[in-house]
Amino acid sequence: MFENFPGRRFYFILIVFLLFSCKNFHPPEKEGPLYFRPSTALPIHIINREKSDAVSLFLTMKNLYFPLYIEENVTIYIYKDQDSYQKAKLHSIDSQAEYHSKKKQIHIASGSSQEVWKHEFVHVFIHQLAPQIPYELHEAYAIILSLRDLTTPDCKNSKATIPVQWNQYRDELLDGKRIETKKHKLFYVYYLLYLWSEKKFFQTLHEAVAKKKPPELNIQDGNGLTWNKLQKGFDRWLRKRNFQSVPGC
Ligand SMILES: [Zn+2]
Repeated sequence: MFENFPGRRFYFILIVFLLFSCKNFHPPEKEGPLYFRPSTALPIHIINREKSDAVSLFLTMKNLYFPLYIEENVTIYIYKDQDSYQKAKLHSIDSQAEYHSKKKQIHIASGSSQEVWKHEFVHVFIHQLAPQIPYELHEAYAIILSLRDLTTPDCKNSKATIPVQWNQYRDELLDGKRIETKKHKLFYVYYLLYLWSEKKFFQTLHEAVAKKKPPELNIQDGNGLTWNKLQKGFDRWLRKRNFQSVPGC
């Protein structure tokens, strides 16, 4: 009855399989408040530098903007290069990096700019602290905060900027298609810039984090009265020419 028992050959294959599995299983390594799974194709000095740069950027942003953030298991997958990221990314939308909120994973290419890192970190913070705000607004916060210089964080000396090429879209916002555009992230980037110029950017963000529902951020809830009031100021502001550098905060 033992004739069919696979015997030594079976155990040999099993051991080889287990050794192979262990060799390829790299548990994420914790550094500061983050976990990392860097590509094995990257030189170790690059991995170490990127890990420590990411942790210090993350902590700077947390201290400046989101001090209420509570550490959670966010894992960062660093790909060898942008090509490898594009092949592996989870969402089909055009992106240089992404945050997967359910899995709490950032996927990013080695050598990504600080702006890209900052953008994904804002997603981590807002997703934990103010998940109630609409997705487009969430995205707009990530765009504006990622372009902000962290070395001059005080409002007096700090200006908000938008990517130069976005200036062309201002006319789209003024041509009467406002309601449809309201769903578009572009609308929210300009809108947050407007709140910035009114010195309400951080005030409303802090209120959202404290779950206070500031009326300025509830423009999607069908409250026409609130929006009508806000719209007048926003329209006036939109007709100005220069959005590259907006004082306020
Ligand atoms: Zn984003």
